[in-house]
Amino acid sequence: MSLPRPPIRRFRILLVEDDAAWQHLVSTGLAEHGIDVHGAPGVARALECLEEVRPDAVVLDAILPDGNGFDLCRRIRARIGELPVPILVFSGRDDEASIERAFDAGAADFFVKSLQWKLLAERLAQLVAAAQMRTELASSHRRLDRAKELALLAHETARRARELSNSDPLTGLLNRKGFLAAAQALLDAPREDPAKPAALLLIDLDRFKRLNDTLGAAAGDETLKQVAARLQQAFRNMPDIVSARLASDEFALLFPSMRTALAAERAAQIAMTALRRPLTCGGLDCVVRASVGLATTAAPMPAEALLAQAGQALSEAKSLGGNCSRRFQAELGHADRERFDLEAALHQALDRNELVLHYQPIVDPRSRRLSGVEALMRWQRDDRLLSPRDFIPIAEETGLIYRMGEWAVGEALQQVRRWRAAGLEVATVSVNIHARHLEQPELARAVSQALDSTGLASSTLELELTETGVMRDIKRSLDSLQGLKQLGVRLALDDFGTGYSSLAYLTQLPIDTLKIDRSFVDKLGESGQSRAVVRSITALAQALGLSTIAEGVETRAQLDSLRSLGCDEVQGYFYARPMPARELPGWSRRFDGAVPEPVRTGPAALGRSVGGAVDPARRAIPDDPSGGLRL
Ligand code: C2E
Ligand code: MG
Ligand code: MG
Repeated sequence: MSLPRPPIRRFRILLVEDDAAWQHLVSTGLAEHGIDVHGAPGVARALECLEEVRPDAVVLDAILPDGNGFDLCRRIRARIGELPVPILVFSGRDDEASIERAFDAGAADFFVKSLQWKLLAERLAQLVAAAQMRTELASSHRRLDRAKELALLAHETARRARELSNSDPLTGLLNRKGFLAAAQALLDAPREDPAKPAALLLIDLDRFKRLNDTLGAAAGDETLKQVAARLQQAFRNMPDIVSARLASDEFALLFPSMRTALAAERAAQIAMTALRRPLTCGGLDCVVRASVGLATTAAPMPAEALLAQAGQALSEAKSLGGNCSRRFQAELGHADRERFDLEAALHQALDRNELVLHYQPIVDPRSRRLSGVEALMRWQRDDRLLSPRDFIPIAEETGLIYRMGEWAVGEALQQVRRWRAAGLEVATVSVNIHARHLEQPELARAVSQALDSTGLASSTLELELTETGVMRDIKRSLDSLQGLKQLGVRLALDDFGTGYSSLAYLTQLPIDTLKIDRSFVDKLGESGQSRAVVRSITALAQALGLSTIAEGVETRAQLDSLRSLGCDEVQGYFYARPMPARELPGWSRRFDGAVPEPVRTGPAALGRSVGGAVDPARRAIPDDPSGGLRL
């Protein structure tokens, strides 16, 4: 008995998509993963192609020029009958209504348009394999796959648990005792794939007590029932989940087998999103927010212990202000103590001026000119210079990141003023901001104060936010980013390509720059896939009118590739490591001397200097600065 596995042979899909650019992106993206794509631009052609192409799966856009994807999905299903051809709806939006419509129309899965080709290819491979296996099963009636076995086991244990009056009378879910019994049975069951962990989500409603106190217990009960229904609805396609209400407003879900720990985090997001839609409590519309603690295990362990780990993660999520999810990270007692010390010292670091910014040049690879710098934080702790990796996570968890971010904006702008006063023109400075900081109104205030006190043009400042952070709560991010954009500052999505950008939202975000993550640049020489990703990102950026910066460029080969792929700017050890502010003028002078030709004025020569004055004396940077330089 085994889980559906991706087929080894190449397979073919029919892609119903009217946008030629997307057709191209999907075809090249999936070809890398052994999937042939046949395109059809609309409903009529798609129906013809079914016969001609005989696809293993159909991927269709929700909006088509001659009809809509959901109706087409229904028509295809009717036409192919029992044939094992799964349909995946590929949509620009991931709102609940679209997802529901897709499943109602007979789709097997739903995928938000993004450049995650590997993920899409994996999903398709699994859908095709599962569809094939289902037909095999139907014909032989002998083999039960692993998912079914787990579903039965879960069902049976849940039934037994209920018999033992282990259910919660209010919601009909299991209660704590029933949950622990069912969870334990699943955790003890032999795992078919040890790499796939079990995941426990502990969900606690934020400020439920207040709702209960204000609207009364009956409204509170009604809310809890709706929460239970929402959670079950959100994961209705996963019949092997064990769900329970453990205490007043605390719910638990156990997933017996997750593809990866990342998939478990995604499940936490799905649960939070499902609850965020307004509920009716006591006749009023109210919005319920939840915090989620997550723990995973790939080995059998006591269900109580896994629950305790999820509980610890949940406390962390609560201490961050709620409305977020945290995953349990195992730590040693000794490590706990060290961390506690570090946390206490970090609180004082700001007041003691122990934080410093180093600056890494950002270069235009065609004109070879310095177009800006990125400010990167360091902590001078006694005689050690700590890297952000050592203290940013703690700053995030304790909320210190907000003060630190505001300090960095002020300090970076002051530094640009000091450089300019000393004759070094730095057109833009980029400062990293934690995505949760966006929700704090103080950020916009601190930014405009820093701009006022330095008198610099607002376009001198670029704020970098990680793609993952922004996409975590896209609706809130959108509002906050629009507020910042009104100040005139530039906005960049950092580490782009590693997260799950919904393209529909990407077009709405008021951003200026995509920073291509180092992981793709790293493998540019070796992996055709990285090349394809970088090509897709630059094409996407061009289509949206955004500029691109590649991070982590270390070799000439990478630089050449990036240049040929149309990347606007680069940053990396190839040109310079991050350096203390005082070293930048010297670094820049060394390049000044290298190319005597004066800089042309005019937009092409100005790099990213939007609205900012550019020193005409700036000189080009030689292609290979490492010769003769200590880098
Ligand atoms: P990031 O914003 O993506 O910054 C780029 C990181 O890549 C920096 O690491 C930089 O030193 C490193 N890097 C640049 N070129 C190369 C290269 O060619 N090869 C390699 N291997 N690495 C290169 P750093 O300074 O350690 O910072 C790490 C991360 O910490 C940053 O990633 C950013 O997410 C965060 N961070 C740094 N300063 C701040 C800050 O002031 N506030 C916040 N919220 N986060 C910060
Ligand atoms: Mg950055
Ligand atoms: Mg980055």
